Amino acid sequence: MHEKCGVVGVSLAGRAAARPLYYSLYALQHRGQESAGIVTHDGFQQYDHVETGLVGDAFSAADLDDLRGSVGAGHVRYPTSGGTDASCAQPFSVSFKSGSLGLAHNGNLVNAADVRGDLEERGHAFTTRGDTEVIAHDLAHNLLESDLVRAVKRTMSRIHGSYSLTITHDDTVMGLRDPQGNRPLCIGDLGDGYVLASESAAIDTLDGDLLREVRPGELVVLGEDGSDFDSYQLASPPQSANCFFEYVYFARPDSVIDEELVYDVRRELGRRLWEESPVETDVVMPVPDSGRAFATGYAEAANEGRESHEDAEGSAEEGEPSVEFAEGLMKNRYVGRTFIMPSQNERERAVRLKLNPIKSTVEGRSVTLIDDSIVRGTTSTQLVELLQDAGAEEVHVRIGAPPIVAPCYMGIDMASREELIASDETTEDVQDVLEADSLAYLSIDAIAETVGRERADLCLGCVTGEYPYDIDGEETDREVERPQVGNRTMEAAGDD
Ligand code: 5GP
Ligand code: MG
Repeated sequence: MHEKCGVVGVSLAGRAAARPLYYSLYALQHRGQESAGIVTHDGFQQYDHVETGLVGDAFSAADLDDLRGSVGAGHVRYPTSGGTDASCAQPFSVSFKSGSLGLAHNGNLVNAADVRGDLEERGHAFTTRGDTEVIAHDLAHNLLESDLVRAVKRTMSRIHGSYSLTITHDDTVMGLRDPQGNRPLCIGDLGDGYVLASESAAIDTLDGDLLREVRPGELVVLGEDGSDFDSYQLASPPQSANCFFEYVYFARPDSVIDEELVYDVRRELGRRLWEESPVETDVVMPVPDSGRAFATGYAEAANEGRESHEDAEGSAEEGEPSVEFAEGLMKNRYVGRTFIMPSQNERERAVRLKLNPIKSTVEGRSVTLIDDSIVRGTTSTQLVELLQDAGAEEVHVRIGAPPIVAPCYMGIDMASREELIASDETTEDVQDVLEADSLAYLSIDAIAETVGRERADLCLGCVTGEYPYDIDGEETDREVERPQVGNRTMEAAGDD
């Protein structure tokens, strides 16, 4: 399983957990649309409700009422191209001699088959193919022999890969982040309890206060009655491997990662993009919605550069206009991921359903189109053509991330290598495929500097091909597992 997902966990004083979990999953809906689930515990018994589809469709009011207890965990799962496998929906819940467990997992283990083999030899029977069940069984096994913290520590030393987990063990809720902190997880104060969530926007939704990130290798155990939490640093490797793509694309712009507002990071990346690859055009235009913050920064920097240039010269050129920032592409927000392509040969038209150019903004003008990333190249290829058809004189493309040259194995559904347009093409080649007048990507250094981290502390696997974990043998599986299916093109075409 290779998924980008959202996880939450809450422990409250005397208040039902189901609705706060439901609202926080709503806030994390962008991290996964394939399924949604909640597990709760009322001190006696575990309850769970997991269903495919969006959060709003997965739960009725009655479902939420049936999820009793003031502690629980929740999950939204990212869609995969291979169709829907209900058995992989989460949280994964199970009862053992050592108690009930509910696990919500964002990430991907690289040694799941190994761990699973060992457990099967010890008599554990598995019901899914997913690696979350492997973690559940390993933890259940360790809980027979040790207390909670020691059991988690043993599981942590056994499993390798990326994981941010929220876990219920009977009426105890905990959060666990892999030793390199690849996937995000943060903790918030709700006044009458605490919340763990993939992103701080979920904490905002509950009117809570973001306290801090869960540290790489840290286990956070929430108090059973919502009182306080305990922290255990179970592993402290010298280097972290935070996914840089959270900053660029995955996280909501209103989330805060490591005390930085993601929107501000993206805007600054846009400014850096101008510094590295300026181009004088009439209008700077974002690809909605993912390119907006980058385009804002790019246009700001362009205009500041112009002002300081004017100051230095002493006299501004008469009537020289500043670069315009304009929304020239309007998005139909009702085109969802479930849209089925009418037929293969209408695929290129797909983007027209999702994005429509504003002719008067484009016609006869030179346009700089800004997006966060190019994955397969579908979006930018089609948008360049769309803008040219709408009368643009020139279309320059600027991208707020480096070229994506390799797949992600760390829990993000990206693409197999041959689908990636930049995997074996130079930027010039990609520019030709796009039929753009120019194309430039942002450098890796600009990203590391802007997010304030050493390159070595970021996972840059998809832009360097070098991964923080040993991923032997993974690529073949992945390519077999991920056929190109009809609605992937739609998903890529103008998805934000
Ligand atoms: P492309 O069309 O080149 O395949 O994908 C680029 C577009 O998809 C960009 O607009 C970007 O915002 C978005 N995108 C980037 N990464 C991902 C991803 O992992 N999944 C999905 N669905 N979209 C992505
Ligand atoms: Mg996008």
